[in-house]
Amino acid sequence: MFIGHYAVALASKRFAPRTSLGALIAAASLLDLLWPIFILLGWEQVRIQPGNTAFTPLDFVSYPISHSLVAAIGWATLFALLYYLLVRYGRGAILIWVGVVSHWVLDWISHRPDMPLYPGGLRLGLGLWNSIIATVIVEGLMYAIGVWIYLRVTRPKDGVGKWGLLSFVIAVGALYVANIFSPPPPSVRMLGIGALVLSSFLVLWAWWADRHREAR
Ligand SMILES: [Zn+2]
Repeated sequence: MFIGHYAVALASKRFAPRTSLGALIAAASLLDLLWPIFILLGWEQVRIQPGNTAFTPLDFVSYPISHSLVAAIGWATLFALLYYLLVRYGRGAILIWVGVVSHWVLDWISHRPDMPLYPGGLRLGLGLWNSIIATVIVEGLMYAIGVWIYLRVTRPKDGVGKWGLLSFVIAVGALYVANIFSPPPPSVRMLGIGALVLSSFLVLWAWWADRHREAR
């Protein structure tokens, strides 16, 4: 999943209003921020194979360090602890933990059975990605609800808070649609670099816009 993870982050703001949207997005997409690093290091493997599922040309050959359930729980605990030590905000730390683990659950719904329970363990997946229409409906709806919740619980302090956030929401939606229609990545290396740069940039963008907003 892609914007489904962003939906979780946006909605989390309702339960942890003092936590930056940037941190919440970093949590919900943490496994996808780590994955390109492990791909580039050669620790995990992906193959570009158009038609793997209707929605993605990627064959996730092996990704136990970033995408097994046990690893996800480990990363969640590590990130939540780190957040708590730095920010001392318990609710935020809990939502960070939930956000990281929710990534596994949402990927389990969308991927074909390639999501390991633990490294080398049983691989599961419900395969929502076998249908582009169903994927877009589910993720689109989740994203709309997430944005709606975020807008209800925060308000802009200035123009950046208004337009920075609005442009972020539109950019994420546009990237999602563009991704459906774009050709497969030219190489695994380009895929890794692109994914890492783009995801990190979106975390910073969300953090920047969120700093210019306050709780209602
Ligand atoms: Zn993922």
